Amino acid sequence: MALNLVMLGPPGAGKGTQAERFAREHGIPKVSTGDILREAVHSESELGRQVKAVMERGELVGDDLMIGIVRERLSRPDAMAGFVLDGFPRTAAQAQALDEITASRGPVICVEIQVPDEELVRRVRGRRVCDDCGANADAFEHKPGALPDLCQNTERCRSIGPSWVARSDDSESVVRERLKVYWRDTRPMIEYYSSRPTFRSIDGLQTPEQVREALVSAAASALGMPASQLQSMTKKLDGEAQAS
Ligand code: ADP
Repeated sequence: MALNLVMLGPPGAGKGTQAERFAREHGIPKVSTGDILREAVHSESELGRQVKAVMERGELVGDDLMIGIVRERLSRPDAMAGFVLDGFPRTAAQAQALDEITASRGPVICVEIQVPDEELVRRVRGRRVCDDCGANADAFEHKPGALPDLCQNTERCRSIGPSWVARSDDSESVVRERLKVYWRDTRPMIEYYSSRPTFRSIDGLQTPEQVREALVSAAASALGMPASQLQSMTKKLDGEAQAS
């Protein structure tokens, strides 16, 4: 059985951080639509040119475009043992498309991270990302100039050090717009998932480590297994793929 996980929740809830770690620990790819789009904007590709202005306003990119991107990404061989989706689906149409894409891939676990709006605005205002590799850091937790050495991902980061910047869509007015869009378009979609046996909600106000533990427990309980079994599940799948 594949380990398919969808992370749900508002901007700033910690989905990206948790998705990254869960994916690494379970040997499955993290698919973040925000990262895919930001990378396209950064490299000034055709896709990047199409989505830049929409993202800067805090609005949603069109469903057809997003569904095409996710369909292609999930069709790659590394996603067959499972995946962690972050930032998708965000609308009812995207959720329906995901059901169709994953129809023959076993259960899809949906975990919502809940955080109150005011805390989200606070977090996002303090968020800094490495301009080069996209790693996240919290400017409130770390004094300017003393941000942690989080981004060793690219050659440029390693040679000249990270350049921490605020995301262009993290200004307070754009964050409020993103939250408005979230409550209007995305939250109702979560209702669509909430009646499923594989849906779980966790408290995002806990420390990152506590949220990580809650996420692992939620995913395991959604599949009706102990947490220790989750990891062996993807390892076994890996082995099967290598043997075939
Ligand atoms: P957030 O911090 O709001 O979770 P993301 O990094 O997931 O932000 O996404 C940044 C922006 O990229 C969104 O505000 C939106 O413009 C666009 N985007 C990302 N994923 C989607 C999606 N599934 N559908 C439409 N737009 C998307």
